[in-house]
Amino acid sequence: MMVTDLHHFLDLPAGAPGPARRLAEHLSNIVRAATAGDAGTAWESALPCRRRPANRRCPGRMTVLRAEPTAPIRWQCGVCHDEGVISNWAGSPFDLRPRRLTLAHPVNEIVIPEEAAAALRELRFPDPGCERLVFRIRAHDGGAVLPATRGDLDELIGFVAAEADHEPSRRRRQRLDTALDALSNAAPAH
Ligand SMILES: [Zn+2]
Repeated sequence: MMVTDLHHFLDLPAGAPGPARRLAEHLSNIVRAATAGDAGTAWESALPCRRRPANRRCPGRMTVLRAEPTAPIRWQCGVCHDEGVISNWAGSPFDLRPRRLTLAHPVNEIVIPEEAAAALRELRFPDPGCERLVFRIRAHDGGAVLPATRGDLDELIGFVAAEADHEPSRRRRQRLDTALDALSNAAPAH
């Protein structure tokens, strides 16, 4: 059981060693998923496991649980059972809990490839709306499922299209275009 305090991983110095930076990214993504998704119930996010037993990537995904009122976030890999708790996440830049209640609209379950979910997680989000959507993506049959309303999806597609337009790296632009295709093709009919 890995017990961590998120504050120790915020603002790592630029020269921090790779393993420390990768662990910081892993923990901050777990906090983003756990706060973007529902509280009080454990769910399997699309976040991949960080472990590489025998030099092969563990195929597991992170199951996350956020209790209410605020308690340490629990996480576990469904395959290798790597697990931990993260404290001091509330109010951090990775806390995506909505600040206000939003009206409920019908939510569609949009199936996208795992690579599309990974490309979306690499984006820098100007506001928590799209970021919350991306980190709510759940694991699903080797792929991923995005729960989103029609409006959410339109907003995300618009944002990703703008990012792809401005992306100078050809490789990253291709990844974003692939994600965009997945979102656009998955979009349910009006
Ligand atoms: Zn694992």
